[in-house]
Amino acid sequence: MSATTSPTRIARIDDLALPLRHVDDVFVEGAWVRADSSERRAVVDPATSVEWGSVPVGNRADLDAAVASARHAFDRGSWPRMSPSGRAEILRRAAARLEAYAEPLALTNTLENGTPVAESGGAAANAASILRYFATPAPVLEADDVRAAPSGTHETLVQRDPVGVCALIAPWNFPINLVVVKLAPALLAGCTVVIKPASLTPLSIRFVIESLREAGLPAGVVNIVTGPGSFGEELVRHPGIDKVAFTGSTDVGRTIARHCGELLRPVTLELGGKSSALVLPDVDLSVLRSRLIRSSLRNTGQTCYISTRILVPVSRHDEIVEAIVETVAAAPQGDPLDPATVFGPAASAAQQRSVLAHLVTAREQGAEVVLGGRAAELPEPFAEGVFVEPTVLDGVTADMTIAREEVFGPILTVLSYGDVDEAVDLANSTDFGLGGIVFGADEEAALRIAERMDSGSVGINLFASNHAAPFGGRHDSGLGVEYGPEGLSAYVAYKSIHRRLRA
Ligand code: NDP
Repeated sequence: MSATTSPTRIARIDDLALPLRHVDDVFVEGAWVRADSSERRAVVDPATSVEWGSVPVGNRADLDAAVASARHAFDRGSWPRMSPSGRAEILRRAAARLEAYAEPLALTNTLENGTPVAESGGAAANAASILRYFATPAPVLEADDVRAAPSGTHETLVQRDPVGVCALIAPWNFPINLVVVKLAPALLAGCTVVIKPASLTPLSIRFVIESLREAGLPAGVVNIVTGPGSFGEELVRHPGIDKVAFTGSTDVGRTIARHCGELLRPVTLELGGKSSALVLPDVDLSVLRSRLIRSSLRNTGQTCYISTRILVPVSRHDEIVEAIVETVAAAPQGDPLDPATVFGPAASAAQQRSVLAHLVTAREQGAEVVLGGRAAELPEPFAEGVFVEPTVLDGVTADMTIAREEVFGPILTVLSYGDVDEAVDLANSTDFGLGGIVFGADEEAALRIAERMDSGSVGINLFASNHAAPFGGRHDSGLGVEYGPEGLSAYVAYKSIHRRLRA
């Protein structure tokens, strides 16, 4: 696709208050410094396929410099030796700075990956709330933890050290949230970090770095480099790294897990999902309609935990499918910079191709298209954009590829069940275990069903995040959890110091 086919949109991008476009620097040792590599990668607006920015494609010298910076800050710097309360204060200051960047951050995010501004507009506030949440356990980290031995002969002082230099690798679908949920607990614990954002979304995260710099974070504590997946793999294996935290695809997660296994390097993996919305026979259709997009198609279907398999009782199949189709068809698709837009483009041309290939396979395997089903053609200036029609497929069975593999596009599949036991079996019949939702008027009955779903998180008539509760996947959806005290503990190394009982 040509980079010059959408002059209207180029003019619009030029009119936007975007402080970041073409950059040749990386953040190392507390400053934006010119990258060693002279190679650049374009940043493309998927709504038009216009190239509007670029970043360095890092080389080994850039990687070594970033890791050495983080290593020095950890081994010799003030950050790991500062009190947790002192670190928490900097997180709180950074949260306030970040909120001030909400608008340029949202525009940058939307132009990187097509996330509608209705979604990206909340990214800074959400990240700020995560920073503030992870400031709150500071007193827990600094409290004395002395445990008497059951034998009565001695006691042990349990010390909580930071785990070390962390590699943080994030995908493109929520480029701020999925970095900050790693960064905030790592920083509170006293770790230092090297961040590698996804190649599609390398610019918006710089507002987070800038907020931390303005908040007084010491040099070297946070470093950011940009480069392809192979560069991320070099980071994972770098001898200066102590821990890896990754969100992305299951295939890449397995590769990272293999490296970390060989190196005995702790790793947290937040991977793909294929979650189910189990619609009980007593469902209130107005609740289903009001929650469906958020729980099953959030961010144009590019969200790891969404429940894209809709499990419908045969007894109410037709009216439920009608409600689903009406709800999806009524949600506007178009310019992601328009606050009314619900469905934007796919994040990239490659992602659009992947989603369309899934639709071809689904049809070949017998799924029935009841809404959408093709690439969406929009008028100028979006004619070159990479949109997919919001789609509902009925008659899907558990053995079909579309019911088993993560699609990451605006596609819902309807699977029918006879009784509730069959529905639970269907929900648990994938290789994943990340999200899920139960829709039912009797919330106690719905809770009993949620308890039987083999998944890290399940909602009842809603799916809402909670910074204080663990979030993570089972089976092919990952290893370990993020958020909550459990998420913080991934960045803590425990040390037991034994001593004689004091009189
Ligand atoms: P990837 O897993 O390929 O990428 C995630 C991050 O890892 C990116 O920063 C990527 O860099 C980096 N990376 C890629 N290969 C390696 C490697 N070998 N070692 C270390 N880091 C690596 O996801 P994609 O963005 O390509 O998306 C592919 C599919 O993954 C999607 O279609 C979707 O199914 C799933 N996905 C799941 C997400 C989730 O939240 N569960 C999020 C995003 C995607 P780079 O961008 O430079 O390739």
